[in-house]
Amino acid sequence: HAKTRERNSVQFFNKQLSELENQRQKLLGDLRQDLAANRLNMVYQPQYRLADQTLVGVEALIRWEHAEHGFISPDVFIPLAEDNSIANEISRFVVHQVYQDLQQYRLLGNPIERVSINISAVEFNSRMMLDALLMEIESLPNLKQWLQIEITETATLNNLEKSAANIKALKAEGLRFSVDDFGTGYTSLAMLKDLPIDEVKIDRSFIKAMVHETKAKAIVEAIVGMTHGFGISIVAEGIENKEQLDLLKVMGCSEGQGYFLAKPLNVKQLAATVRSGL
Ligand code: C2E
Ligand code: MG
Ligand code: MG
Ligand code: MG
Repeated sequence: HAKTRERNSVQFFNKQLSELENQRQKLLGDLRQDLAANRLNMVYQPQYRLADQTLVGVEALIRWEHAEHGFISPDVFIPLAEDNSIANEISRFVVHQVYQDLQQYRLLGNPIERVSINISAVEFNSRMMLDALLMEIESLPNLKQWLQIEITETATLNNLEKSAANIKALKAEGLRFSVDDFGTGYTSLAMLKDLPIDEVKIDRSFIKAMVHETKAKAIVEAIVGMTHGFGISIVAEGIENKEQLDLLKVMGCSEGQGYFLAKPLNVKQLAATVRSGL
């Protein structure tokens, strides 16, 4: 019967949903535990000036190796954390680990003069969480002068006025502010005009497309030209081959990162790379 079939499929669907919810809760519990036990790690992807390939900074990226499931991407667990307000705990871990890593290898300030960390949308949009993070950073001597905060463009979408106030709070502390995955939102132009931005990072989807799509290429060119005019630094993300690198240089894009230049490295590998002058 249709009615019975319908009821059965609804029951089936509900069962699947609650299993999914159980899995989420289990994963979240594991994340909380591993965070508390300092079992997550940071890796660092070098960023280069494209003209002469000198190192200009690093982006710190979080890594979680789950005891049963192995490596879980931050693209999976960061959104989970955001929904459950442990975003702040993640960032607290990140700033402490970055500080400890770079101090242990004596990299902070020299030769690494810029360290970017990613923070979550919920954190950026909550003044309470943002202030908590600032206090955490403040507690680590000499960190903030080298630190840059990355926030995805879509995180600032909702309210440009509020975003401007939050960026000013970061900048008042001496931190630099970078807009990640730039070009993917709907407010790109308004942001450049109205927000006190230090850096934008061109989303890697444009870098991928620009070598065979004239419109993507035109977008990258426009972003490079505009940021130049506004005195904003620019980093191309996701450079995977020489063709992309060469095109970016021709366009006058000043900085970049990507697997073709260097993969994210653990701090020991980073120290070796930096000391060998690469
Ligand atoms: P994102 O900030 O845009 O980081 C860049 C991502 O691109 C990283 O992935 C990096 O490993 C990857 N990548 C670098 N070069 C290349 C390349 O040439 N090709 C390709 N295909 N990918 C490249 P990852 O580490 O998996 O991070 C994914 C996202 O998770 C990040 O995107 C960021 O939004 C978030 N995330 C990572 N670490 C943290 C963290 O510590 N805190 C927070 N809140 N979010 C983080
Ligand atoms: Mg980033
Ligand atoms: Mg990005
Ligand atoms: Mg991203």
